[in-house]
Amino acid sequence: MSAEPGPSPYDILFEPVQIGPLVTKNRFFQVPHCNGMGYRDPSAQAAMRRAKAEGGWGVVCTEEVEIHPTSDLTPYIELRAWDEKDLPALSLIASEIHAGGALAGIELVHGGLNAPNLTTRETPLAPHHLPVATYGYPPVQARAMTKEDIADVRRWHRQAVELSLRAGYDLVYIYAGHGMGTAQHFLSPRYNQRTDEYGGSTRNRMRLMRELLEDTLEAAEGRAAVACRISVEEPHVPDGLRREHLEEVLSEIGELPDLWDFVQGDWAEDSNTSRFSPEGGQEQLVRGLKQLTSKPVVGVGRFTSPDMMVHQVRSGVLDLIGAARPSIADPFLPNKIRDGRLAQIRECIGCNMCVSGDLTMSPIRCTQNPSMGEEFRRGWHPERIRPRHAPERILVVGSGPAGLEAVRALGLRGYDVVLAEATRELGGRVVKEAALPGLSAWRRVVDYRLQAIAGLPNVEIYRESRFSADDVLEFGFEHVVVATGSSWRADGVARWHTSPIPIGTGAEVLTPDHLMRGERPSGRRVVLFDDDHYYLGGVLAGLLRHEGYDVDLVTPAPLASAWTEQTLEVEKVQRDLLLSGVRIRANEVLMSVAADSVRIENVFTGAPQELPCDTVVMVTARLPEDALHQQLLAAAANGSLRSVEAIGDACAPGTIAAAVWSGRRYAEEFGAEPGGRGASLPRREVTELWSPPGPAPRSTLA
Ligand code: ADP
Ligand code: SF4
Repeated sequence: MSAEPGPSPYDILFEPVQIGPLVTKNRFFQVPHCNGMGYRDPSAQAAMRRAKAEGGWGVVCTEEVEIHPTSDLTPYIELRAWDEKDLPALSLIASEIHAGGALAGIELVHGGLNAPNLTTRETPLAPHHLPVATYGYPPVQARAMTKEDIADVRRWHRQAVELSLRAGYDLVYIYAGHGMGTAQHFLSPRYNQRTDEYGGSTRNRMRLMRELLEDTLEAAEGRAAVACRISVEEPHVPDGLRREHLEEVLSEIGELPDLWDFVQGDWAEDSNTSRFSPEGGQEQLVRGLKQLTSKPVVGVGRFTSPDMMVHQVRSGVLDLIGAARPSIADPFLPNKIRDGRLAQIRECIGCNMCVSGDLTMSPIRCTQNPSMGEEFRRGWHPERIRPRHAPERILVVGSGPAGLEAVRALGLRGYDVVLAEATRELGGRVVKEAALPGLSAWRRVVDYRLQAIAGLPNVEIYRESRFSADDVLEFGFEHVVVATGSSWRADGVARWHTSPIPIGTGAEVLTPDHLMRGERPSGRRVVLFDDDHYYLGGVLAGLLRHEGYDVDLVTPAPLASAWTEQTLEVEKVQRDLLLSGVRIRANEVLMSVAADSVRIENVFTGAPQELPCDTVVMVTARLPEDALHQQLLAAAANGSLRSVEAIGDACAPGTIAAAVWSGRRYAEEFGAEPGGRGASLPRREVTELWSPPGPAPRSTLA
């Protein structure tokens, strides 16, 4: 007879919660989140959401769903509920969420001022004549809505609610958060200066939201719960929503929806990265709001610690633990907490690589969870992998993110795996980068994998073992994975310069590798040339400035760390660098380096300038550490090895997410037939073609 498990401090997280007519099985709530798949890849989205439902989330929601062609968010790829044609995709997603064991939520939005309608070419609708407020400054203006337009939006919203119910959703959202919906644009004094009954007082400005909620409740007729997602504030902008407005909303209509979902400001404020906000960063903002309504409250905060989750519930901040990113990094987080497998939680590192999927209109990806977005496309699962095809033994050289993930996944498949690492510490670049300011959470990439590997008896690890090709052959390995990483270049080559630039004798040039090893410029005046454009240039400029160096950040891009626009960090990066005293020299390129100065040029005019400088830090391109790979390829060619492959940065330097993914891919495809390694392509979803009605007209030309 097996004993029942005793009470756990986390039992409170597994209590059911009443949301209107629904009862959830626990407090784990996957709030709506974008994924770059939307209407283009609905089957991929369905499989992704199902994995989370299987992993124990009580409620799993879609992303924002456009309710009408005047709510067309092109170029971004979200779901659509424009008409009947969207029903199959919406139904598939709801039914897969149900099959996984969760309730299904849908987040309906009329994008209004946020929807440039680039596909439909409809005129955007807004409280006023204003330029659309979305990414990238599209030259599109919205027009002020008439009373008829308001009636139309209500009717379209109601139709979308009915479509959602037919598709099987249990919970329907009205979206008034992140500055992304007409309901919020009307509520916000920033966007609404109308003089009719929809403008002026907070009561008037919330009128449309109240009407949408009433319409939705009426259409739902108790068959679905109704949630409202709302921004608590619009900080850092003139005339934005303030907490007192929200308190007034709650005092007026706090009892109307079945659930309140509180978010912070716009998306960049809400989805803060670990570099700029700790776990639970929204607590102060949301604290006290729950006491203004009897309805349950959900909120987010990159929650991965069950103790933090319990604290949110016990201290009366939240009823439901909302998560987007923690559910992306670990779809099985609730089940792991339930089963007491806390060490196995794959904690979100707060890097926003997932967000970059949506913002680059590509399927979602995650640094920690390489199966994210690949559930349908490649058949990968966040927790399972098929058993080994044969009792093979594989050597993995290098313990960075690529090597560690390959070892973990190959080990899970049941192969005998040997990991050789040149240094004492495992983790490669992640360990070094995690020691930089703001990046400590990144260590979780290594921690998760080391604990997983520790439970695998078929994996052997050799530290301080720099392997040569001779070692590999001497030990009789037949399959070798080379994950030896990359090194930063010091010659200026990257995007702008594709050949080395002149560097004079006596000039001091350092790279991120030097700085991460603890080396520092010998003089005070530093020019950091960033032609990489992701986080490292900005992080290192900030670090050097903090240590007292006089720093010029020279970049051919219009902003420092320009690609962090895709991770919603770019504004915070500029702010922090400027406040710290780093001089950002945007649209400038480093042309040559002398012992005590550098020459830079404007990228548009070519206007030269000389800057005094003691040391240059090049954050440019990297080169793979591929000497071992090349030697082993030669050995494979003469039959001494059966297979050899470079993965991660040793193949082509990229992000940590790409390195983890390539390790997983190797493990997934090892032993695959036919076609061999690397031959697999992701499954595609192809839009149904339009068939012309009747026979095609015959040509009159001979
Ligand atoms: P990636 O991001 O592709 O995983 P990293 O640079 O993070 O690459 O990791 C590469 C790792 O490989 C480092 O820890 C490095 O010490 C190790 N390494 C490099 N060359 C060898 C070698 N010949 N033998 C063993 N380990 C090596
Ligand atoms: Fe978290 Fe980064 Fe994964 Fe997003 S990509 S879920 S932020 S680990």
